[in-house]
Amino acid sequence: MPKTKNDIVMRDFLLGIIRLHILHHAQQERVFGLELIRELATHGYELSPGTLYPILHTLESHGFLESEKQVVQGKVRKYYRATAAGVEALETGRTQVLELLHEIGLDAQKREGQA
Ligand SMILES: [Zn+2]
Repeated sequence: MPKTKNDIVMRDFLLGIIRLHILHHAQQERVFGLELIRELATHGYELSPGTLYPILHTLESHGFLESEKQVVQGKVRKYYRATAAGVEALETGRTQVLELLHEIGLDAQKREGQA
């Protein structure tokens, strides 16, 4: 995923955020891989299936997502929904991320105020 040197700073953070983002959408409605790839692209994140699918499998194997298979236009599609543990992880993670982002934003505001 890293395309520029700055991406190295953000890579692991972004993967965590992307997991939260997947849980967010999977809490609202059932989602599937290709749909999430397209949805992430609208936010400016180009994720390959080789990056996204392992994330989905990890979240499922740890009990944060549950899946069901359905045949759509002759192809098996795997739909995911957040479990109760997934919703809990989303809420905890959201609080932690927002607190850190808030601090980063506050410091930037302070610097702008001094300038
Ligand atoms: Zn989204």
